[in-house]
Amino acid sequence: MYAANTAFNCLERPRVLVAEDNDSTRRILFHVLQQWGYDIVLSKNGLEAWEILRQERPPELVILDWEMPGMDGIELCRRLRDKSRSYYHYVLMITGRCDKQDIVRARELGADDCLTKPFEKTDLKARLGVGHRIVALQNELIRSREQHREQAMKDGMTGLWNRTAFLELIQHELERAARSHACTGLLLLDLDHFKKVNDTYGHLVGDIVLKETARRLKQAVRSYDFVGRYGGEEFFIALPGCNGKQLRRRAEAIRLAVASEPVRVGLAEIAITVSIGAVVTSARLRTMSDILAAADVALYKAKDSGRNCTAYCEKLPYGTAMSPAKTLVFRVGAPTLMTL
Ligand code: GH3
Ligand code: MG
Ligand code: MG
Ligand code: MG
Repeated sequence: MYAANTAFNCLERPRVLVAEDNDSTRRILFHVLQQWGYDIVLSKNGLEAWEILRQERPPELVILDWEMPGMDGIELCRRLRDKSRSYYHYVLMITGRCDKQDIVRARELGADDCLTKPFEKTDLKARLGVGHRIVALQNELIRSREQHREQAMKDGMTGLWNRTAFLELIQHELERAARSHACTGLLLLDLDHFKKVNDTYGHLVGDIVLKETARRLKQAVRSYDFVGRYGGEEFFIALPGCNGKQLRRRAEAIRLAVASEPVRVGLAEIAITVSIGAVVTSARLRTMSDILAAADVALYKAKDSGRNCTAYCEKLPYGTAMSPAKTLVFRVGAPTLMTL
């Protein structure tokens, strides 16, 4: 999205596009702007400037000459305002025209200000200063909006995606995977006997264990997988592009990563394990509700099979309550059952 890309650091130099076909004016502009600390992108005609403005994250300040070959400054300005509704560029028009009507027209078509050639350096500096203040304020607002959006999507305790955000992400992922005929793996994980941790050490220590579990999960996945907190001591992980065989390997690595060593809180050493319900999208498991239901069935199976293991559900129990789901339990190595 454009807004996210535009939220640059305040310390970054303001970037300005100069579109001017006259060589000497362009050169003068370049020198003064450089002296004033701007990052400059130059273009010699309107079409070239339009290509630059269409790129991702174009300069936020724009100086346009009115008369230019290919596309004039007025048309460029109109197109820019038309294209970029999510980001406001400050546009300064420079022109040899002195007629008040022209200046009014330029403003009506989207220019923020006009300077008549020849212009004083101080006038240019002052106008760009105003433009810089406007875009800097805008960038600050975008940054704070992005931060709020991110906060609303994250679980406050663990920093993982919260349930709502995760479900949205997985929905997008399922749609993307369906379009590209790829499969997606989903793991539903539940800490084993977690209530005992709370009962033995108290909820504050329980919280530390949850945070540490989240850290281990994040560390055990690839950069393009996503990890969420389903609620309580339950987590989920989406693994884009994972087929059944790969998911089996990944799930085992994740399960072992959680149980790799006890969580140390003060003098206490708390061994933790997870049970995992695993699902891979297929012709039979395609919708979000089916996938979540299948992961839930598999998780119950893993708990039922002694915990600290992964169960796979390949098919939901449609029809009668008697018809069982097709599940498969998988465990590498001996179970490390929790000791308190
Ligand atoms: P199982 O192996 O069958 O999953 O057993 P369990 O003890 O992990 O499961 P149970 O559902 O009986 O207990 C889950 C516990 O997780 C109960 C609840 O108090 C605790 N819990 C849920 N959210 C939090 C939290 O944010 N912090 C802490 N400390 N505990 C939580
Ligand atoms: Mg010109
Ligand atoms: Mg639970
Ligand atoms: Mg549990």
